[in-house]
Amino acid sequence: MLLLPSSLAHDGDALVWPSGLPAVLAAATVLVVDDEPANVLLLRHLLERRGVGRIDTLTDSRDVLTACRETNPDLVLLDLHMPHLDGHTVLRQLRTSLPSTTYLPVLVLTADVTSEARDRALGAGANDFVTKPFAQAEVLARVSNLLWSRALHQQLEVHNADLAAALTARLETDRREARELAVIGERTRQALDGGALRMVFQPVLDVQRGAVVGVEALARFPVEPYRPPNEWFDDARRAGLGDRLELAAVRAALRQLDALPPDVFLAVNLSPECVLSRNMTEVFDAVDGRRVVLELTEHTRVQDYGQLLARLDELRLQGVRIAVDDTGAGYAGLQHILELLPDVLKLDLQLIRGIDADPIRRALTTALLNFANELGASVIAEGIETPEELATLQSLGVGWGQGYLFARPGDLPVVLESATLAGGPG
Ligand code: C2E
Ligand code: CA
Ligand code: CA
Repeated sequence: MLLLPSSLAHDGDALVWPSGLPAVLAAATVLVVDDEPANVLLLRHLLERRGVGRIDTLTDSRDVLTACRETNPDLVLLDLHMPHLDGHTVLRQLRTSLPSTTYLPVLVLTADVTSEARDRALGAGANDFVTKPFAQAEVLARVSNLLWSRALHQQLEVHNADLAAALTARLETDRREARELAVIGERTRQALDGGALRMVFQPVLDVQRGAVVGVEALARFPVEPYRPPNEWFDDARRAGLGDRLELAAVRAALRQLDALPPDVFLAVNLSPECVLSRNMTEVFDAVDGRRVVLELTEHTRVQDYGQLLARLDELRLQGVRIAVDDTGAGYAGLQHILELLPDVLKLDLQLIRGIDADPIRRALTTALLNFANELGASVIAEGIETPEELATLQSLGVGWGQGYLFARPGDLPVVLESATLAGGPG
């Protein structure tokens, strides 16, 4: 295979080949076919001096096709007048027997100076023509030219093969993605239509007094194989059904509002995208907004706070409180909080995990508590699992908490009864 030096291969104007040519010649195989051994010798000598890497020779033209198949030369120097098979027949053989995509240049060398001989040879598929006695410089220039074009052709073939492979891979990925999306869409629609969505509720406690102050509604999908709720919501988003699924969960949660004491809030999860969606407008109209906390759960960075704030202000007018979920993780950074000025900050469970043994987590939590204080926001520490974590949070002055230590998400109203600071049953 003749490969162009990369610096030249990409430079369309660089066909002034001298700097790349030696490499092309050195990598080339040239097959010399002439029944006259003296001619063969002369040509071999010439090509060797010019730096051609491999020179094969044949004096019997009947072997040309086999030799080409076996050694795949880059150029054939072909005599026209030979016993057994003449050059025209060999040319025809090559052009009809080799794969049509093969670009094997043939340079015809002949003592026949008639234009008829030249036209016949070119017509039979010769790429170039030199008459004997030939000027050595001319033969070498034509050889170089043909080898260079062969190298360009091979380069193009490699490039095309790469492109074709990339295209095939891309098509396969697209097809797989489309199949996946179809499955996901179907599954989500079934969950929406067939009601395979139920809500569980996790109590939020006043960590100083132990009273239940609220519950967070969390979605469950009791469908085999089991998949966690965040995966269901991620998939639904990919399939363009994110808003529908999020709102279905909120509606299902709000339907159970009557199972809660009037002073216990109901927290629901919504992404900013869903808050901004048109489907969202009437969701809270039928309930007393003062009993609802909206937890804004980020999946991507909010691009346009103006619109989001306008929408949240409308909800605030209905009495709905706004919470920033997962504070200290993901996209819920300080800038996000400053934009939203939430009523509630939910500290992410990563921040709470092992806080009793970690001064850095304590310092960060203290900072966030001061920050919330300045904003006039309440704080909920999420994911409290151990009495030690609870004791630390109490000593830091956290107001509210939520976690397996008090109660796992469960059904209303039983989950309320089992929730205590000392832990529910099981
Ligand atoms: P999230 O909103 O941060 O919900 C808190 C998650 O922490 C819940 O997981 C809850 O079960 C879990 N959790 C509570 N206490 C503890 C604890 O002490 N330790 C540990 N390790 N985990 C605790 P869940 O229910 O699997 O939900 C995961 C995420 O899925 C949620 O994170 C939320 O982003 C999303 N999600 C769940 N339900 C809904 C929903 O109804 N609507 C929307 N939009 N998203 C939801
Ligand atoms: Ca949440
Ligand atoms: Ca959270």
